[in-house]
Amino acid sequence: MKIKFCGAAKIVTGSCYLLTIGSTQALVDCGMFQGRKEITKLNYEPFQFDPKKIKYVFLTHAHIDHSGLIPKLKKYGFNGKIFTTPATADLCKIMLEDSAHIQEIDTERENRRRNRKGESPREPIYTQDDVKAVLPQFRKVHYDKTYKIDENIKVRYRDAGHILGSAIIELYISEKNKTKKYVFSGDLGQWDAPIIKDPTLIKTADYVFIESTYGDRLHEKIGSRDQLLKKYVQKTFKKNGKLIIPSFAIERTQELLYAFNKLIKSGELPNEKIYLDSPLAIKATEIFKKHSELFDQETMNKYRNPFSFKNLVYTPTAQDSMKLNASKEKSIIIAGSGMCTGGRIRHHFKHGIWDKKNTVLFVGYQAEGTLGRRILEGEKNIRMMGQEVVVRANIEKINSFSAHADYKELIKWAEGFENKPKKIFIMHGEERAAISLKDKLEKKGFNCYIPELNENIKI
Ligand SMILES: [Zn+2]
Ligand SMILES: [Zn+2]
Repeated sequence: MKIKFCGAAKIVTGSCYLLTIGSTQALVDCGMFQGRKEITKLNYEPFQFDPKKIKYVFLTHAHIDHSGLIPKLKKYGFNGKIFTTPATADLCKIMLEDSAHIQEIDTERENRRRNRKGESPREPIYTQDDVKAVLPQFRKVHYDKTYKIDENIKVRYRDAGHILGSAIIELYISEKNKTKKYVFSGDLGQWDAPIIKDPTLIKTADYVFIESTYGDRLHEKIGSRDQLLKKYVQKTFKKNGKLIIPSFAIERTQELLYAFNKLIKSGELPNEKIYLDSPLAIKATEIFKKHSELFDQETMNKYRNPFSFKNLVYTPTAQDSMKLNASKEKSIIIAGSGMCTGGRIRHHFKHGIWDKKNTVLFVGYQAEGTLGRRILEGEKNIRMMGQEVVVRANIEKINSFSAHADYKELIKWAEGFENKPKKIFIMHGEERAAISLKDKLEKKGFNCYIPELNENIKI
């Protein structure tokens, strides 16, 4: 088999690996590049392969850095099948529709700018029509079942414990009468995270492809996050302020709701209102409710429905959201986008970040160059929505809400193999994190390699 690392090599985003098995071409993931301009511009470049020749896409999970270029694949002629879990297929629908909407708006804005400068306009990477066209190509596969894809390929998806529906992919590939097993970790979750199950330990593999997002870091203990949440709520309510939380629509939002539900049930928090002010997060929460079979035992036992409780108010419409902006009541507002690059969170900032009564609480990774990162790093005057806004609200952060395993957990997962794989390829991490994980794994006796972007390897 030949593999080409078309993304997420020495960077975190753009997860996409081209597999060539005899005359068959397949992809593991087809993700979008995110973050700095030099990286996002790769989304506009032609694929490193001919989309018409791709027969299968094996998709690990619904995050846009893994699934976000599937509609572009369709736009350029892909007619194959996309294999993924039912929850990922459901989440992809709303994530890709949202992504297309963002492409369309961004392109409009960019083209206004280009027009003014006399430059030629740009096409969006893809549109809603491309999303609509590709959705019928999704095929649902269940965890722990082996599927025969064709004469040479078998596949099994295992729970990766990262977000709802996320999978580790085991590929059994036969060439010249020999079968080898390739394991793609996808993104791995933390052990003991609420709602979803723990990552599955895989016992055998010839070759492993492991993520390394936090290859050089350790998280705070998960147990402390509820207490930190409680502390920031109390501090803000004492000043009669609002607690404004920028949050990612999938997993993070549901973990927050779960934590608030728990704190309210145990009487640790007062009965103030909690608003979920993000249409995408509201839709994602509906998908969580639909797939409650994927919840872990604790969630099943204690909460039949962890995302419905008395104080929780969903505000899907723009009118509801605007009412919140005008309101003076002390409350908790969860809104997207997670890195404040768009969405309703900006309206909440405009109406509240200048007021020292309020708190902005970050619960997720803020990439370089994003508004979230600038606020977190202490910028006191921000420019957004065409206005200068002063930052006087209290700015706080909780680190333990990550959906990714830290390096101890990545090593734990690697040590789950009963016999050492022939090689572990280290992917999906900044170079520093990948090198750090490589050093640690090599100390444990693993043979590791960090591929370059667009490198081609025969294994
Ligand atoms: Zn992910
Ligand atoms: Zn990822």
